[in-house]
Amino acid sequence: MISIITDMHMHTTFSDGLNTPSEIVSMAIEKKIDVIAITDHDTIDGISEAMEFAKGKNIKIIPGIEISCVHGGEEVHILGYFIDYEDKKIINMTRDLKVHRYNRAIEIVEKLNALGVDLDFEEVRARGENKSIGRPLIGHILIEKGYVKDMEEAFSSYLGNDAPAFVEKFKLKVPDAIDYIHNAGGITVVAHPGDLSRENFLEVIKFDLQGVECIHPKHDEELSEYFMKIARENKLKITAGSDFHGEGLKGRDGMGDYTLEVESIDYFTKRGE
Ligand code: AMP
Ligand code: ZN
Ligand code: FE
Ligand code: FE
Repeated sequence: MISIITDMHMHTTFSDGLNTPSEIVSMAIEKKIDVIAITDHDTIDGISEAMEFAKGKNIKIIPGIEISCVHGGEEVHILGYFIDYEDKKIINMTRDLKVHRYNRAIEIVEKLNALGVDLDFEEVRARGENKSIGRPLIGHILIEKGYVKDMEEAFSSYLGNDAPAFVEKFKLKVPDAIDYIHNAGGITVVAHPGDLSRENFLEVIKFDLQGVECIHPKHDEELSEYFMKIARENKLKITAGSDFHGEGLKGRDGMGDYTLEVESIDYFTKRGE
């Protein structure tokens, strides 16, 4: 039987990934992955480059997004797949999120300055142009300037949720993110549910979701099995994604290591089986 290998979760330079969409496509071809989804944080701007670059090549790109949401007091990431990336509503919504992230970066730099870090917002702006700016972008600058030795320390000393330069970001409610994705013709999957309390996960899947990202670097085998069991019981698709952000980034560098083999791409779009 013919089967295809899918890795449904990747970030590019349009959010906090280290590789351009074209580079991501090339790397995936090299790793013999048949299907990848481009799923940048809160943006779809990287999709057209990936689609263009993949034309005529031996790979299929699924236009996706990973939207940061809030539910039950926790940050919940909702993946959208097969979205129409020319849909006006989702374009406008992601534009708003980009502006929120930009203004948040200004606030983070102000906090860093107050903590004695010599950093001009201009340096962030220059790198963040046209991007969905995330904390890792500022983390990379802190590493380069020698304030911290690695990203882990950037988060523990400055940027993390309990660290002194933390600034909340705007997050959509889960059902609103789901509506934007469905409205753009997409399907919805809850990302790395291992981040959530079990109780909250079981609440989140009551929303109109189509799948659960059961296989992910944050899940050990036992946890993956648990999510697969719940997904089956609730007639939700099982998906897998490496959450690739770049080579050498611990826990975020396993492109092709967290995959699911399916018979065909229809696996993701067929309902209720
Ligand atoms: P943001 O969307 O700006 O809140 O940034 C969150 C992103 O930062 C996550 O999606 C991860 O890619 C990354 N991140 C979060 N915590 C850490 C950490 N401790 N070390 C490295 N990267 C992290
Ligand atoms: Zn990220
Ligand atoms: Fe995520
Ligand atoms: Fe991600």
